[in-house]
Amino acid sequence: MTDIITTPIFYANGNPHLGHAYSGYIADVAKRFHSLANKGDSLLITGTDEHGQKIADTARAHEVNVSQFVNDRAKAFQTLWPQLNIQPNIFVRTTECFHYKIIQAVWRTLFQNGDIYLGFYQGNYCIGCEQFYSSYELEDGCCPIHKAPTHNTSEETYLFKLESYRQQLIEHYQRYPNFITPNHYSHSILDYLQQGPLEDLSVSRVNNEWGINVPHNPKHTIYVWIDALFSYLTALQRAGFNQDDLQKTTHIIGKDILKFHAVYWPIFLLAANLPLPKRLVIHGWWTINGEKISKSNPETLVSPTDLTDQLTKDGLRYALLRQKPLARDGNIVIDELKDLINADLAHSFANLVKRNHTLVIKYFSGVIDSSIINQQTLSNTSQFIINHCGQILKKIFDQYKAYEFYQVTLLLKGLLDSCNHYFHKRTPWEINKGKDRNEVAETCLVTSNLIRQLAIAFYPLTPNLSTSILDELGDDVKSCQWQSRFQIQSIEINHARSHFSKLYPKKTL
Ligand SMILES: [Zn+2]
Repeated sequence: MTDIITTPIFYANGNPHLGHAYSGYIADVAKRFHSLANKGDSLLITGTDEHGQKIADTARAHEVNVSQFVNDRAKAFQTLWPQLNIQPNIFVRTTECFHYKIIQAVWRTLFQNGDIYLGFYQGNYCIGCEQFYSSYELEDGCCPIHKAPTHNTSEETYLFKLESYRQQLIEHYQRYPNFITPNHYSHSILDYLQQGPLEDLSVSRVNNEWGINVPHNPKHTIYVWIDALFSYLTALQRAGFNQDDLQKTTHIIGKDILKFHAVYWPIFLLAANLPLPKRLVIHGWWTINGEKISKSNPETLVSPTDLTDQLTKDGLRYALLRQKPLARDGNIVIDELKDLINADLAHSFANLVKRNHTLVIKYFSGVIDSSIINQQTLSNTSQFIINHCGQILKKIFDQYKAYEFYQVTLLLKGLLDSCNHYFHKRTPWEINKGKDRNEVAETCLVTSNLIRQLAIAFYPLTPNLSTSILDELGDDVKSCQWQSRFQIQSIEINHARSHFSKLYPKKTL
């Protein structure tokens, strides 16, 4: 079955930073796992949200034409993904003509159904946020984000009646308590919905020069919620999928946009008579040397490609997923990441491969036939490690499926340790000190087969390293399928390469 995974549609008022890359990594790991596990289609959607007065103002401040400004921002994201080994299938832009038409059609449906009406919004407006705040949301009369005074504004606006769908959404959360991963967010959204009626939501702006016009009333532009959220639908339709395929969609989002995806988006979909997505996966934030990544703190706006220069493409991806569970916040200290990458990828994994395959080439000319072992002759320690590996791979599979990528890394590390332990305990290098040749052949054959399974299981997290190791074993990822019970296969190895070099301290951030 097709699995559809989305990153957020990123706001295009600046260049991509580590926070964006993190969403992209999570989505790409999920996509690679899916294609490995199911051999089915999987679609990764990303894109840029390019409308709004703030973007027009930023472009003006840079003395650039606004179309040029958003083209450059979109280009920056489009260039970044392949540099990080992230492979989106669809890159959607909210300034595309195709999207424009879809949004106007959605608007017409919602308007004709009576969900949207023309009214007034009176409230505390923050220009920086382009958003109204209720009095209780203000801090000393100021915007909670910008700490700047808001303006009491009354403005003609179209309003959306969220309340009409509150009960339906409550029932959805009651029926699918795991709709949001981790599921404590489902409980908090349910609590929020059960507190009482939802206020009407302002869904248009006057005086915004840069947006999609409201059909039949071009004085108004459609506000970002509807414009940006429905770009997921635009992307599906552009890829030739059906509207109903929304129910196969998993949205990867940062916790800052939870409410838009957990309340507004499903309500808009219910109103438009469309299916709800399959799941929301929430991730936390990163700080860099203790500082929150933000535009107002340029030191933290380190480019993800600067980090891959220091840590390698596989290294950065692996370390970010290895360091903390997705939903938690984490802090980046480059030297700590290097230690983690050196310990797991260089020392535990690549080193085991190199040592084993060097022996296979030196003493068996690169070839060991699986017929040298069978159930009767296989030693207990080999039988044990094979069974153990099968059990752990099954757990890893389940954890990948549940988006518990941190647990995946812990299980992989544990399995690597067990495989290293097996190899070292059996001291196959003592072949030149008179160790039994058949026993060494068994050790090397079993180890190579374990390495093959490890490379497959690591693949979503370390695509380059895994591809390189599988290539040495004469396999490629496309022909490998995830399996937890594996048959010992013959091996034929031509080289014993170094697959991953230890990272040394260089420049720091
Ligand atoms: Zn603000």
